[in-house]
Amino acid sequence: MNIPIAVAEGDGIGPEIMDATLRILQAAGAKLEIHRIEIGEKMYLKGFPTGMDPKMWETIRHTKAFLKAPITTPQGGGFKSLNVTIRTTMGLYANIRPCISYYPFVDTKHPEMDVVIVRENEEDLYSGIEYRQTPDVCCSLKLITRPGCEKIIRYAFEYAKHYGRKKVTCFSKDNIMKFSDGLFHKVFDEISEDYPDILNEHWIVDIGAAKLADTPEIFDVIVMPNLYGDILSDVAAQITGSVGLAGSANIGDHGAMFEAIHGSAPRRAGQNLANPSGLLLAGVQMLVHIGQPKVAEEVHNAWLSTIEQGIHTYDIFVDGKSKQKVGTAEFGAAVVRNLGKKPNELKPVVYSTAYAAPKTKFTETRTDRKIVGVDVFLYHKGKLEDFFSRISHINIGALRLKMITNRGTRVWPQGQPETFCVEQWRCRFVVDANHGCTQRECMQVLEAFDRIQLDVVKAEFLYTFDGSAGYTSAEG
Ligand code: NAD
Repeated sequence: MNIPIAVAEGDGIGPEIMDATLRILQAAGAKLEIHRIEIGEKMYLKGFPTGMDPKMWETIRHTKAFLKAPITTPQGGGFKSLNVTIRTTMGLYANIRPCISYYPFVDTKHPEMDVVIVRENEEDLYSGIEYRQTPDVCCSLKLITRPGCEKIIRYAFEYAKHYGRKKVTCFSKDNIMKFSDGLFHKVFDEISEDYPDILNEHWIVDIGAAKLADTPEIFDVIVMPNLYGDILSDVAAQITGSVGLAGSANIGDHGAMFEAIHGSAPRRAGQNLANPSGLLLAGVQMLVHIGQPKVAEEVHNAWLSTIEQGIHTYDIFVDGKSKQKVGTAEFGAAVVRNLGKKPNELKPVVYSTAYAAPKTKFTETRTDRKIVGVDVFLYHKGKLEDFFSRISHINIGALRLKMITNRGTRVWPQGQPETFCVEQWRCRFVVDANHGCTQRECMQVLEAFDRIQLDVVKAEFLYTFDGSAGYTSAEG
């Protein structure tokens, strides 16, 4: 039975690499019913701010998978990223990016590299919640949730288990972002206990990134929040030899999207130059996902054979090492000729069973949550002394002014004269231990600011959870 899939050929090199990819998949006997949809630059310019006609959601919803070529996002403001829209709207929470080197057939400094990056795909700074709060201050919200962490981290361990991988590494920056990245690390530690046969480790992302760029062979599966995963998966793909070699899967409970990790490379478009391998390997991931693992295996092994025969597109062609420089279409034709072959030196792949996203059982967090204060963010161009005397006597119930910070650094009490201050100030009103307060009292603090005509740009209520502060102090 043919499996319905949505196909978008995108912009730039997209149509050429999609044509080569579909020819290979069809020649290998993939059972696909193709539903074409138009996305990208043309749609943005027709006035669809997301790069897609909303009617296309029906096609995406009623197909098992979406094979998508890269698109060009037009220059200028006002255009939303189509990828982010599709990932978040469809709940495609896991982005899987295998980054493997094919040494000695593709030049790389890292001959032993075989890393799978599992990138969280819906949260973090990509939730797109951003504000310009004052003329000179902008703020983006880094949102990390327990269900979001549980889904992606469980996915990473299940992926490792299914594909016989030995270790899952977590990257986070929880030494600085103790709550958001701290939650990611904590959930990683909890879930890793369910997988005693798989090694687990955690690295702070900065040294982890340095190690990944220097000695990628020490890693196996790496799971990380969205932004780190976005950046480091490009680094990882590039150091295998070419960004044109890596495919990616975006997986969720209600759909899946498969694409190359690179963009539409407009400079290479229409010249039969681009390497279709990234999209083809995304197609291989798609075949495994839709239950055609044997076809996936045949395509992947034919592709490995082609790489091994030295039939290379310009981006990986090396004089004296490669045998034949080919264009997109000729590379595709060579893969078709190699169907049924296995590589001699590179390790052949085996896909025995389909692999779909695991269902996550979410932990229910039970905790005693109490409101204990409010941080009031103030727009004030000038000095602390200009407004300090007006707010220092605000007493609502047991709420008292305890601290003022500027860009997170304490300026009162015990501020230092060297601290550089901008026009956004945070004034913390909090109760002493053994006292409570109400949401109403916190709002009365805001009203008090309003009465003396101070410009409040935002307020954040402060809570304790089982008696522990759910907010950082100025000292971190
Ligand atoms: P890019 O990845 O498109 O290209 C950068 C360079 O990498 C190219 O000039 C080319 O030299 C090389 N390259 C990339 N893919 C290749 C391939 N398959 N074969 C051979 N060489 C390849 O990055 P960019 O130039 O920064 O972005 C171009 C456009 O793509 C932008 O509009 C950007 O927004 C968009 N983009 C789209 C996606 C997507 O749709 N998933 C992802 C990233 C960028």
